Amino acid sequence: MDAEIIVLGAGFAGLSAADALTRAGRKVLLLEARDRVGGRTLTEHYGDDLWLDLGGQWLGVGQTQMYALAARFGKTIWPMHVAGRNVLHVNERRRTYRGLIPWRVSPWALANISWGFLRLEQMARRVPVEAPWQAANAAVLDAQSVGDWMRRNLHSRVAFDVLRVAVESVFATHPDDISLLHALFYMHSGGGLASLTSSRNGAQQDRVSGGLQGLAGALAAGLQEQDVPVLLDQPVLSVVQSGNRVKVHTARGVYEAARVISTLPPVLAAQVDFRPGQPAAREQWCQELAPGRVIKCFAVYDRPFWREEGLSGSAVGDAPPMHVAFDATPPDTEQGILMGFIEGRAAEQWALASVEERQQVVTAAFARFFGPRARQPRRYLDHVWANETWSRGCYAGVAPPGLLSRLGASVRTPHGRVHWAGTETASHWNGYMEGAVRSGLRAAEEVMQAGI
Ligand SMILES: Cc1cc2nc3c(=O)[nH]c(=O)nc-3n(C[C@H](O)[C@H](O)[C@H](O)COP(=O)(O)OP(=O)(O)OC[C@H]3O[C@@H](n4cnc5c(N)ncnc54)[C@H](O)[C@@H]3O)c2cc1C
Repeated sequence: MDAEIIVLGAGFAGLSAADALTRAGRKVLLLEARDRVGGRTLTEHYGDDLWLDLGGQWLGVGQTQMYALAARFGKTIWPMHVAGRNVLHVNERRRTYRGLIPWRVSPWALANISWGFLRLEQMARRVPVEAPWQAANAAVLDAQSVGDWMRRNLHSRVAFDVLRVAVESVFATHPDDISLLHALFYMHSGGGLASLTSSRNGAQQDRVSGGLQGLAGALAAGLQEQDVPVLLDQPVLSVVQSGNRVKVHTARGVYEAARVISTLPPVLAAQVDFRPGQPAAREQWCQELAPGRVIKCFAVYDRPFWREEGLSGSAVGDAPPMHVAFDATPPDTEQGILMGFIEGRAAEQWALASVEERQQVVTAAFARFFGPRARQPRRYLDHVWANETWSRGCYAGVAPPGLLSRLGASVRTPHGRVHWAGTETASHWNGYMEGAVRSGLRAAEEVMQAGI
């Protein structure tokens, strides 16, 4: 099969790269390992009246490319339900509050929480998103974990716990497992910590009708209408460059083009046999960038009973193994859906349990947040992302201390005729669908500049 450019991976990065190249008149072929498109977005339908986004689900302020895609394919956007009081559950105590900061804690804890958020925001703004390794004190910031910084700077136990929950819910990893430099870069990349942790005017603001995988599907269908082959069940095994051609070997065939854009998550790119091999620095980055760990959990009820009690359905706190919960109910249904994440080290542990065991602990956590009625869902479902062969975790790759300042500069540099995209290569909205789309557009532009 003949193409000028082969794109590896049909997540939002690969689909966007293929779309941009096709619109520019290039001949493109898309190869995807799974039997579906969408990558880290996955929308499952359970009969007529229930559908769930098991992967990426929210759009938020500043994510211009994603909103543009949704508009292009006629998708309705609706805001997540946030009316009512949020729940904060720490030290076995439940408090309710409105807004981003839980004001009903001691003045000492409140001062410490506010200072911690503010200080992180200030430091993040000084990390250049295009080249975080060039931050003034990059080596110092990268030598420590977020956990190290929190232990030195947060002296209230409640403040420490609130920040820990914020870090775990944004990065899906333990604060001790993530570099401070990477965390600051990621925050700046997504408009700041307040933006990344907010539902109003933040990254968790809006949902898309029919789910996010449907949007990826619409993009793929648009490509197919223009005769772009989107080949599924084609795990790429090797990428061989020779002269001005690149051969891609998959489990089912060999394809050839002048250039390749790889959008594979770094943990999976590390397993592809690139010849010549990826530059050592990039190869090492792929091996060390650890995917976050998330189990996304849903409890479905006859109706959103928490709203009757004036609660929004949003909760943060230590109701192990759950740290955050949200109201995931679409507007066009009678039933109520609570959604929560098990993240980081807890996700590693609970991935080993049965779904029944997880239902027990998750509904117990929802009950701590929203009262005893949460223990009796009509239905429980969850999804363990570390078990997905073609993702190996989510939301995105997380750099441990020492990685970004040492090897970060290698991430986007093309390797001969192979160009790199994927959300982990994005300078804006790194880790998000928006970052994936922007990375795909950037790589497509790179290829067009380079010529065939
Ligand atoms: C539970 C969860 C919740 C999330 N929530 C949000 C959210 O609310 N908002 C948000 O913006 N983002 C969210 N994200 C993150 C978001 O989904 C990702 O950042 C984005 O989808 C990544 O897109 P991508 O194209 O870079 O990578 P991917 O979607 O991972 O696409 C890469 C593709 O490459 C394929 N592939 C891998 N290896 C091979 C191979 N060897 N050969 C061929 N193909 C291969 C994969 O199957 C995949 O389709 C969430 C993710 C998860 C899992």
